Amino acid sequence: MTQTEDAPMVDRPAPATPTGAPVLLEGLVRTFGKVRALDGLTLSIEPGEFMALLGPSGCGKTTALRVLAGFERPDAGRVVVGGVDLSRVSAQKRDMGMVFQSYSLFPNMDALDNVAFGLRMRRQPTATRRAKAAELLEMVGLADQAEKYPHQMSGGQQQRVALARALAIEPRVLLLDEPLSALDALVRAELREQIRALQQRLSITTVFVTHDQEEVLSMADRICVMSKGRIEQVASPAEIYARPATAFVAQFVGISSRVPAEVRGGEVVVFGEGRPVRGGAPAPGATDALLRPEDVALTPDSNGAGQVVRQSFLGATTRLVVAVGESMLRVDVRSDAVADFPVGTRVTPRVVARDVLVARHDTAVASVDDL
Ligand code: ATP
Repeated sequence: MTQTEDAPMVDRPAPATPTGAPVLLEGLVRTFGKVRALDGLTLSIEPGEFMALLGPSGCGKTTALRVLAGFERPDAGRVVVGGVDLSRVSAQKRDMGMVFQSYSLFPNMDALDNVAFGLRMRRQPTATRRAKAAELLEMVGLADQAEKYPHQMSGGQQQRVALARALAIEPRVLLLDEPLSALDALVRAELREQIRALQQRLSITTVFVTHDQEEVLSMADRICVMSKGRIEQVASPAEIYARPATAFVAQFVGISSRVPAEVRGGEVVVFGEGRPVRGGAPAPGATDALLRPEDVALTPDSNGAGQVVRQSFLGATTRLVVAVGESMLRVDVRSDAVADFPVGTRVTPRVVARDVLVARHDTAVASVDDL
């Protein structure tokens, strides 16, 4: 059976009081040989908040999650949950539920027993734990799958069981380590919405690790963008997208192209035209403009400064890569207009965004292709 044929997760009223605990990661340092996986990470998470850790591979997301869970000891810093310092508390005693990328169900137990496992470890009576597990399976829309073994379930179903299992112990914090990345696009989108709805209904503090931007932009209350074991910015998805604090964030979230520009007369001059600078004008002189794919319009022009070098179909839009001097500009056009821009077409680019984010020439940012 496919995921989409399953019953929807059951809508229940929210509990009277939020169950989520506040989480504080304070000054976390974790080194592996010469690698500083966490380099003084401090992050405060509100009760019931859905916080996403986002960043390129190797930036320390999983290490942060593992330190929070108690699987990894930090070299320095503290983990405080609900005001209590957990630094010396073992992973088993931290009351955290985890869902991993791989389907980590016990293969020799059916769905019900998998969900009831944590309760068995807590020595709850059989009847209590079976009733609770059945209730949770119902909550994730799998009431009729209780007797199935993992190998008899789809990937999406297994992840729902894993979610039910994580929630069964009524954890103070829910930790999600790329739980959707092994699923196909349809199941992934559906489960994304369901996890978010359940998380909000239970008001459970959740930390979610991913490098999928779409996932975090649609799910998180706040996003913590990380690079090299440090935080670049912590803010709501809308703010991260519209007001990236650093050139790194602008390039990592939403994909920005970086093109040479000049600040002059209080404006930034890009492709020969002045535009307002987002956040106010910096000192006059050479700079870089950071442009999102939707910030630029193209006109076919045999004398144009740009040339289309690649097309990628994305559905309603098609992303064009346009060479302009030394820069590679990414521009989204409506797919029904893409016939005007075959590879090789010369074009004139024009900024159509209300204002433009600029970054100093010398801010070191990896190329978007490297992220
Ligand atoms: P990904 O998205 O690829 O999972 P990540 O952001 O989760 O990456 P981490 O897994 O936290 O990154 O790793 C951060 C850095 O620490 C990397 O350079 C990684 O190679 C290193 N690292 C993590 N765990 C270990 C380990 N047990 N031994 C040695 N190095 C490690």
